[in-house]
Amino acid sequence: MTVLILGGTGEARALAAALDDDAIEFESSLAGRVRNPRLPVGPVRIGGFGGAEGLARYLNERGIRAVVDATHPFAAGISTNAAGACAAADVPLLRLQRPGWHDRHGRWTWADDHHAAANAAATGRRIFLSTGRQTLDRFVGPLAAHDVLVRVVDPPAIELPPDWSVLLGRGPYGREEERSLLLDNRIDTLVTKDSGGALTRGKLDAADELGVRVIVVRRPATPRGVATVDSVATARDWVLRVAEVRPADLRSADRRPSSWPPAAH
Ligand code: NAP
Repeated sequence: MTVLILGGTGEARALAAALDDDAIEFESSLAGRVRNPRLPVGPVRIGGFGGAEGLARYLNERGIRAVVDATHPFAAGISTNAAGACAAADVPLLRLQRPGWHDRHGRWTWADDHHAAANAAATGRRIFLSTGRQTLDRFVGPLAAHDVLVRVVDPPAIELPPDWSVLLGRGPYGREEERSLLLDNRIDTLVTKDSGGALTRGKLDAADELGVRVIVVRRPATPRGVATVDSVATARDWVLRVAEVRPADLRSADRRPSSWPPAAH
């Protein structure tokens, strides 16, 4: 059976590596948004499917028997499409989504969306915007006259106000590195989205330590009724269960699930 991993995240790459180890047939799908994507092991297809209908067609044509939606927590469009397509094609779907960040000191401002975050940030003087390239347009209006430092993986596709500067980079960024960045640029307000995970948490810890104001965009809602797990190991267990793979069939004994049959989620 072939498993489709909807990817573009570290979790998706880790799951691809795990299934490759297990000799499970799978392929990964990327949207093709970034110029030099980090590629997972195994076969990869790149580009949109053409909405939920296109994805349902793809599942049928390719004989996909299970889908793991391991896309980014803010990639709401593809997650909605995956839910619709899998329901239409009668293919089991699992959402793999890393846990969100926790405000350890209870000081962050939570915004319901990017517009609200932009308005909340407007009281800042020197703003560090790390919400990604695709949503920059929502910040331009409210923050056009502000001093803003933007960090993105690829150069912005839109023209930015004159007082904005752009830093190109791709994480992970450690806490010390982020601390220096905040200090060197005299940042008083950090705007981020609740991506979760350890790889980009450093900026939040550094901001908390320095007393920099933190504004966090809440995650979009996940489609209703879709089974969701928050770890690669659990997602792998789910695939093994759906694929009806027995521990004895696995190539590597030390990578067997801790319990058999793996728990349903
Ligand atoms: P999105 O708004 O949910 O998706 C927009 C469209 O892009 C989808 O309708 C689909 O096109 C296509 N698409 C998205 N993910 C795809 C995938 N894995 N394989 C094939 N087509 C895909 O997504 P997004 O926010 O633009 O994110 C795009 C990709 O970047 C995702 O794979 C996500 O995991 C990754 N990513 C996103 C963020 C973020 O902050 N949003 C951060 C890091 C990584 P069709 O309708 O034509 O199928």
